Amino acid sequence: MATVLVVEDERDIRDLLRRYLERAGHSVLTTGSGADALNLLVDSVPDLVLLDLGLPDIDGFEVLRRATEIAVPVIALTARSSVEDRIRGLERGADDYVTKPFSPQEVVLRVGAVLGRHSSTMTSAVMSFGGGRLLVDESRHEAAIDGRPLDLTPSEWGVLTTLAGSPGRVYSRSELVNRVRGYEFAGYERTIDSHVKNLRHKLGNDGATIVVTVLGVGYRLGLDHDR
Ligand code: CA
Repeated sequence: MATVLVVEDERDIRDLLRRYLERAGHSVLTTGSGADALNLLVDSVPDLVLLDLGLPDIDGFEVLRRATEIAVPVIALTARSSVEDRIRGLERGADDYVTKPFSPQEVVLRVGAVLGRHSSTMTSAVMSFGGGRLLVDESRHEAAIDGRPLDLTPSEWGVLTTLAGSPGRVYSRSELVNRVRGYEFAGYERTIDSHVKNLRHKLGNDGATIVVTVLGVGYRLGLDHDR
């Protein structure tokens, strides 16, 4: 299920879009204010924005600019008369546009198409291990085990992404210290052991079989990279 942010100052249109998008299985956030939309973009990180370019408080193109900066796809809603807005919207990174008045079914189809294009580029950035048990998304700085998001410290994140970068390869403690040092300055070999211990704890019961100790050498990831 995707989260769609609808930015539209005309209440009837906003409510209509909400109804159709929810019926299509999406989770919907709405606002009639561009300033509010800028905050929602950062706070809620929607999967897509349906954006009316003609907003009462700030220029809709300002919202478009912010969304493209954080790689959230945008479908622009424009007045039929405004060819200029459509062209300008596409030039500035909108993925698609719909002219008013529109059929809500068409909007829902276009939302699905843009989300599909985006998710296929997004999933390629997610590394999957052990048949989907462990997911690591470096671009989003997110990891999950068995569908449960992991809340990792920078050092634990460094250990996990280093091991995951080359599954099966054994990393010595000093190698891990060097890799993790980018995240933390106080890197001593024995602190790696405590980072590993905490990371395993967060990984759950199988922690020690996911981050495997290789006696006398160091650590390796115990899950295969899914292809
Ligand atoms: Ca408007």
